Amino acid sequence: MEFLVKSTRPETLKTATLVVAIGEGRKLGDAAKAVDQASNGALTAVLKRGDIAGKPGQTLLLHSLPGLKAERVLLVGCGKGDLSDRQLRKLVASVHGVLKGLGGSDALLALGELKVKGRDTYSKTRLIVETLADGSYLFEQFKSQKADPRALKKITLVVDKAELAAAERGVQHGRAIASGVAFTKDLGNLPPNLCHPSYLAEEAKTLGKAYKNLKVEILDEKKLKELGAGAFLAVAQGSEQPPRMIVMHYQGGKKDEKPFALVGKGITFDTGGISIKPAAGMDEMKYDMCGAASVFGTLKAVLELQLPINLVCLLACAENMPSGRATRPGDIVTTMSGQTVEILNTDAEGRLVLCDTLTYAERFKPQAVIDIATLTGACIVALGSNVSGLMGNNDTLIKQILKAGESADDRAWQLPLYDEYQEQLDSPFADIANIGGPKAGTITAGCFLSRFAKNFHWAHLDIAGTAWISGGKDKGGTGRPVPMLTQYLLDRAKV
Ligand code: MG
Ligand code: ZN
Repeated sequence: MEFLVKSTRPETLKTATLVVAIGEGRKLGDAAKAVDQASNGALTAVLKRGDIAGKPGQTLLLHSLPGLKAERVLLVGCGKGDLSDRQLRKLVASVHGVLKGLGGSDALLALGELKVKGRDTYSKTRLIVETLADGSYLFEQFKSQKADPRALKKITLVVDKAELAAAERGVQHGRAIASGVAFTKDLGNLPPNLCHPSYLAEEAKTLGKAYKNLKVEILDEKKLKELGAGAFLAVAQGSEQPPRMIVMHYQGGKKDEKPFALVGKGITFDTGGISIKPAAGMDEMKYDMCGAASVFGTLKAVLELQLPINLVCLLACAENMPSGRATRPGDIVTTMSGQTVEILNTDAEGRLVLCDTLTYAERFKPQAVIDIATLTGACIVALGSNVSGLMGNNDTLIKQILKAGESADDRAWQLPLYDEYQEQLDSPFADIANIGGPKAGTITAGCFLSRFAKNFHWAHLDIAGTAWISGGKDKGGTGRPVPMLTQYLLDRAKV
């Protein structure tokens, strides 16, 4: 989908569909007033008949109004007062739903008078663009019947001249985030027979070739062995697919500037290993690489915006399978950090690939490290699918991430990593156990990771509930938390 911004009188523009707002109590917005005048009171007449009350998200489609260059006019209710983010998203989605069913390939949105709580023109525009892009996402490469190619292709946002620069910036950022979100969804939705660690490594190389300031390094089994990544390798040893640690260096800042680091869990399929999962819904374990996919997506947005920061992306990619070579419950492995781990449950594999990857991140002397992982089912129990779980060892970093989540409408909620929880990981045989019992599973997973993150400012995002929509016909990747992470980096880059 193409997005443009214009500051012209909407009633004078040629378009398949012009969308204007109606306030609650059948009040005409500014654009609607202009359309009404140009069409000799056509809107006033319609409203008099009582067809649309102006409640948020209500729509009414009008054809062939006199005096306009638009083929259709779509009225959308915008309520009264400021909308919440959620109301805005629903309103935009309902407009989009109508537009998708029409014949035209373009639309003009004149919704400047729409007010959203706590949002200026820039961030409102961005949210509109992200919502529209999200709604037009298709994953049909494995379908023999593709969608109608005539469908909606171009959306122009009409704004006041004074708002033009802010709206343009909103579109530019929204476009980049949407492209990162779509990339993340694509990678997540790919079937696990195609999307394995080596596939992700190829994706990284492709990205590295496309951008001059992105360098890609792939660490294979041999290299991981040399590095002593015993926990990482233990996860992969039951699979025919070799593991890969993917390292991508983006240089947008000065050469000597310390980088930010994003670490993504990339389990391309998680059977649970010998601690095998139940069969129901196991197909969704292809989404166990969504942490890595969200790092790819965030990097894509950063590349498109060429943010003036340095960024290292580390993806811990492996497949967790049961086999004669697979890790057993009770096995003890030595991590890259030298700490030993007793693997009590082979389904708690994410933390095993991540711990070595966090240790590896130390060498880049990062300003801050954020790891992103579909780590625990317990996180879905605690927080559902609306917010991601957040933990870490630095208050400033935690606050920055929480704030980024609010601004991007892709939120997280902090859970505590108190010392008391650490004791749940005590093992009689090794330095740490890889699970901490049934209580507070999300927190003890965070505690496990914290043992490998002592040498930098670190935060951990558990996206088990937010990364994909589970079950049914709406099943699919969400692209989260790309908006939050991109916002965090936009804030650091001060743009
Ligand atoms: Mg698992
Ligand atoms: Zn997993």
